[in-house]
Amino acid sequence: MRYAVYTLGCKVNQYETQALESMLRQRGFQRVERDADVVIVNTCAVTAESGRKSRQAIRRLQGQNPGALTVVCGCYSQLEPEDVAALGADIVFGSGDKHALADAIAKALPARLVDDPFQRRVFEPLPAGAVSGRTRAMLKIEDGCDNFCTYCVIPYTRGRVRSLPLADCAAQAAALAEEGFSEIVLTGIEIASYGKDLPGKPGLADAVEAVAKAVPAVRIRLGSLEPTAVTEGFCARLAELGNVCPHFHLSLQSGCDDTLRRMNRKYDTAAFLAVCARLRDAFPGCALAADLICGFPGESEADFAATLAFLQTCGFYSVHAFPYSVRPGTKAADMPGQLSRAEKEDRVRRAGELIDRLRAGYLASRVGQVEQVLFENAHAGHSGTYCPVRIDGTVARGDVKNVRITAVSGDTLLGELTEFS
Ligand code: SF4
Repeated sequence: MRYAVYTLGCKVNQYETQALESMLRQRGFQRVERDADVVIVNTCAVTAESGRKSRQAIRRLQGQNPGALTVVCGCYSQLEPEDVAALGADIVFGSGDKHALADAIAKALPARLVDDPFQRRVFEPLPAGAVSGRTRAMLKIEDGCDNFCTYCVIPYTRGRVRSLPLADCAAQAAALAEEGFSEIVLTGIEIASYGKDLPGKPGLADAVEAVAKAVPAVRIRLGSLEPTAVTEGFCARLAELGNVCPHFHLSLQSGCDDTLRRMNRKYDTAAFLAVCARLRDAFPGCALAADLICGFPGESEADFAATLAFLQTCGFYSVHAFPYSVRPGTKAADMPGQLSRAEKEDRVRRAGELIDRLRAGYLASRVGQVEQVLFENAHAGHSGTYCPVRIDGTVARGDVKNVRITAVSGDTLLGELTEFS
């Protein structure tokens, strides 16, 4: 059987698609780009735009593969199964139970299973997940979220926090290292809450430690992180390990305290700034990245100006700026002061101009430094700080080498292998 697959949304979705693919390969399936027997779309619902793109992707894959069985899973189909069915999907799953989904596809039986995410209590172990041929693997250590930020639909699609036990984190990491991966990205929906559902309540630092110690020769990167997890003890424990990448993607969302409060975020700008300082103390020169929502209900021009100033104060390397998207059923959807689409997009554009300057500043600061680069092809890869790096020489794909940075070209660092690569 031949399948085509398209994934929208976050790293967790990408990870789950990879795991599903691995289960399908075990059942004799082969991935193709056209003439598929089965098309699979792993959908996203984080914004209204993601929902629109999910529907578009379903229609596109159906058009490209006439007659193929249509399989839809993920957060959008969790939230809107009827809409997905109306598009002609034969198998509609939500965001859980990928094992049953693989079985249903293998049997090619029309099936429907959209469960109640709030009833999920156990972490669904999936094959340690990566597509062969890549150098970087993802390891999902957590699912679900209990935070209920006022703009976010994810707790309604993913359910409560469930964590992969520490021993399994270590075992899955070891399996990935055995497969030859040089980097493991620890991912989840809200990894800062890792372990709160497990006996003894281990924390995220315990999970990172378990993985990093299981695979000391592999570098470990953290996926998107709530700033509340980043205490001094957390930073000290991670720095001690020696194989944690100096790159941290923090969920900021706004640089205005009033907006953060209305978002039901659990920190203010002063606490966030302290987090940045802590990370920089423990990992000098580290790259800090953030997510930002522009045009949250009630965000005034002055609030937005405060956010822009805050981005500058934090000195981020990269920021993903999104326009606020109304998600029906969330508290923010009913808040007064909704901004027009044009206003929100204008704020994203203005944030983008600043973000470009911040990125250029960070890249320039790397010139003269030695970066540890994981090569994704013979000439280029990503540093531990997650900057794209290119060299003139040739190395084997998957190698990790020290590169002295000599210049910046656009968004890429240029460099040469050091003597002690
Ligand atoms: S922490 Fe907030 S934004 Fe992140 S998934 Fe949970 S509710 Fe959504």
